[in-house]
Order: sequence, then structure tokens, then C-alpha cells
Amino acid sequence: MKVAEARKLLGVGPDASPGTIKKAFRHLAMLWHPDRNPAPGAGEFFARLSTACDYLLERAAAHGAAGKAAPRGEDRRQDIALEIERLCLGGEAEVVLESRRECAECGGAGHVESGHSQLCASCQGSGRVRHGRALFRCEACDGRGYTRRAPCPHCKGTGEAVVRRVLTVDVPPGVLPGDELRLEGEGYPAADKGRPGDLRLRIQLQPHPLYTLDGGDLVLERPVSVFTLLGGGTVTVPSPTGLHYLELRPGVGEARERSIPGAGIPARGKRPAGDLRVRFVPVLPAVQTPALAGLYRAIQAEIDRAGQDCMPELTAWEKCWLQGL
Ligand SMILES: [Zn+2]
Ligand SMILES: [Zn+2]
Repeated sequence: MKVAEARKLLGVGPDASPGTIKKAFRHLAMLWHPDRNPAPGAGEFFARLSTACDYLLERAAAHGAAGKAAPRGEDRRQDIALEIERLCLGGEAEVVLESRRECAECGGAGHVESGHSQLCASCQGSGRVRHGRALFRCEACDGRGYTRRAPCPHCKGTGEAVVRRVLTVDVPPGVLPGDELRLEGEGYPAADKGRPGDLRLRIQLQPHPLYTLDGGDLVLERPVSVFTLLGGGTVTVPSPTGLHYLELRPGVGEARERSIPGAGIPARGKRPAGDLRVRFVPVLPAVQTPALAGLYRAIQAEIDRAGQDCMPELTAWEKCWLQGL
């Protein structure tokens, strides 16, 4: 059970004292204890309340011992790039936290004493270094020109070591770029005995070869045969949660975008679910056969015979650029 979930179940805030937690639990227990409430699921819910209460009390005991006045560590902020699939479905994601510590090999000095003397790299053995016009005694070798000091091979002379920690993060479905995931206690350590700060992960989007995001809407381009767009038919559309089927009625090919309500990023909190927006890209045949060529000519002849203005854009163009020549 997570802290946030336990607090939500009992309806208590982060600063609730053990007394407040117990009081909140007693009040809810009166409503949900299976001896009092015959509703199906009441017993199960009571058990969850009980777990939440125990969990929060144990936490309060552990943290309370540190004293309320101990200052909390600083929050740590970092970005986490997630795929669109993760925003839709939720699940686990990994984040690498890097911290710089003093190099343990050289104690942070950046250099170690080597077994044999070598030419001082700072003064090239002269014992002196030039600053402007003046010469000064070389500090790296104390003016000797030779030194036993060598750059620490572990930290390459920086005196710092980079420590990497990999954390697994639970991503709930329905998060969007710019949202923040907060991992309690994973921030910077506190001075004294205070509890560490939180890790606040700002969500960023990894580019996807098929989908783009517009708010909570998923947008994708779907190539469709121009004859299906004109004549109608079923078009299959992928989404991170599965396939969708769009029925196209015979039309004039102008409805180039269709929405599937609620099939975008799922709802989260007060935010409603987004849509899946499908943009049709008309595709013309790349291969010609005599039979197809005959059919195309027959279609054009039928359009000419219809006597109406079937292609107003074409008519307007010809009127503008061909007449009077
Ligand atoms: Zn070192
Ligand atoms: Zn030197």
C-alpha cells in the first residue's frame, strides 16, 4: 500500500497525528465493519481501512521519533521521458538518478601518491609556472619539478564520483506531459534527522513514429485507398489499447478526419479521456493494369455524363487558366 492511497482511504492529511489517524479509522470502522454493514464488499473495504490505519500509524511512529521540528531534505526534480503507450496503459518505468559524491579512492583530492617520481605536468619539470610576466613556484610539485602525485585514475582527477541509482517508478494510466509524479522520500537527504525530500518527476513525451499528442487526444495519420474513401468500407485503426474499426460511408472523400471518442489518453482525476483522431491520407494506385485503366476511364466518363459539377475545384481551375486562350 502506498502512503497517498492510505491517506486517501482514511481521509487524513500528511501532517495527521497518530490520534487523528486513529480517530478517522474509528469513524470509518463504525460504517464499514462487516458486523454493522451487510453490504457485499464491506468486509473487504474494512480490511483495507484497517491495513491503511496500521500502515500510517507505523510510519508516524518511525517519523515521529525524529521529532517534528527536524527540517526535511530538499525535493529533487528530474524529467522522465515516457512513451505514449505508457501514458495510455500505465505501468513501470525506470529512472536513473545520478548523484556526485566525493571519490572514495582519493578522498576527494583528485590525486593519489604513485610509487615513483615523475615529471610534474604543471611546470614540465622546471619547478616554476608563469603568470603573466612573473614566474612563481609551482604548487603542484612544491617547486621540485618532480612529483609522486598522479591524477586519481578512478575520478580522472576531478575528486568526484558519479553514483547511479536506478529506481522503478509506477506510472498510473492517464498522465500527460508536464504532469508530475512524486516519489516520497526519494529526494535529497536532510541534514540532521529530518526525513529526505521527495523526488518530483516531470513527465516528458518520447517521440512516437505513429502517434502525436494534442492535449489528451491521440492523433495519427492513416493511409487509405482513395477508392475506399470514395466508395466506403471498413478501415482498421491501431491504438495503444488495441484495434478500432471505422465504417466509412460512400461519400465525396471530404471527411478526411474522424474521431473515436474516449480512445485517446484515458481519464485521470478530473481530466476526461482524450479522443483518437484519425487523419485519412488518400493513396492512389501505384500499379496500372489494362483492366484498371479501363475502369478509371469508365469512372471519368460517368462523372462527365452526370452533367453536374462533380469536381468544382477542377472546373474553377480550368475556367481561370484555360478560357480565353
Ligand atoms: Zn579520485
Ligand atoms: Zn611542478
